[in-house]
Amino acid sequence: MDSSSSKPIHRLLLKVSGEGFSKEGETALDTDRVSALAEQLRILTSEGVQVATVIGGGNILRGAQSAHLGITRSTGDYMGMLATVINGLALSDSLESNGVPTRVMSAIDVHKVCEPFIRRRAIRHMEKGRVVVLVGGLGSPYFTTDTTAAQRGAELECDALFKATMVDGVYDKDPNQHDDAVFLPKLSFDEVLDKQYRVMDMTAFALCRENDLPIVVFNMGDSSAVVRAVRGDKVGTRIQN
Ligand code: UDP
Repeated sequence: MDSSSSKPIHRLLLKVSGEGFSKEGETALDTDRVSALAEQLRILTSEGVQVATVIGGGNILRGAQSAHLGITRSTGDYMGMLATVINGLALSDSLESNGVPTRVMSAIDVHKVCEPFIRRRAIRHMEKGRVVVLVGGLGSPYFTTDTTAAQRGAELECDALFKATMVDGVYDKDPNQHDDAVFLPKLSFDEVLDKQYRVMDMTAFALCRENDLPIVVFNMGDSSAVVRAVRGDKVGTRIQN
């Protein structure tokens, strides 16, 4: 246990990027990855942790990259938001197959398969032990699902935002390019700004900082990371005031 740390987590906002749903460089859903994630969430809810998860769509499409396909940015962004619906439905299905009740809530209308996002209803679902799977981003182009995670984390009064990534956390320089990159287990929001460490996009980061929402960046390849981090183990990089 990390005794130096922070408030216990009763309500968690977990951001899972699209990379968590497909093998590297692929767009097809990877059922092993989805089931591993669902298992982590099953354990957390069985321990009484309330969970909302914001789902990314970058494995399928990102609006900013759609120009090379001849697709306008806004349309690409809406396509990206729809991609998050596909990933979110896969996670919800996997959770339900393992006995975990879920509600998929979307910021864009897809009412045949998702509820609309309504804050008080989302909180009620979590209080009843349902995993709330948040899809459709914020429902507007030119945003990211990191910004969605920060906004929903604040709005739903979560104790922390966990950002699942492909790296172990934050380093002083890119570990893929520098052998001497140093891993940073704990940072303040101001240190991240001063040193210009890349944690998430600036809109998302500013929202977390202003709303005093701690961020934990961790490697989603480590299948028990979320559960260990919620239990208070030192996992990934923690950023807080
Ligand atoms: N998107 C958007 N508005 C939002 C959230 C997402 O337009 O509020 C679009 C945007 O094109 C984004 C794509 O959906 O690139 C997929 O989300 P993101 O890139 O954040 O997914 P991730 O990188 O987490 O897989």
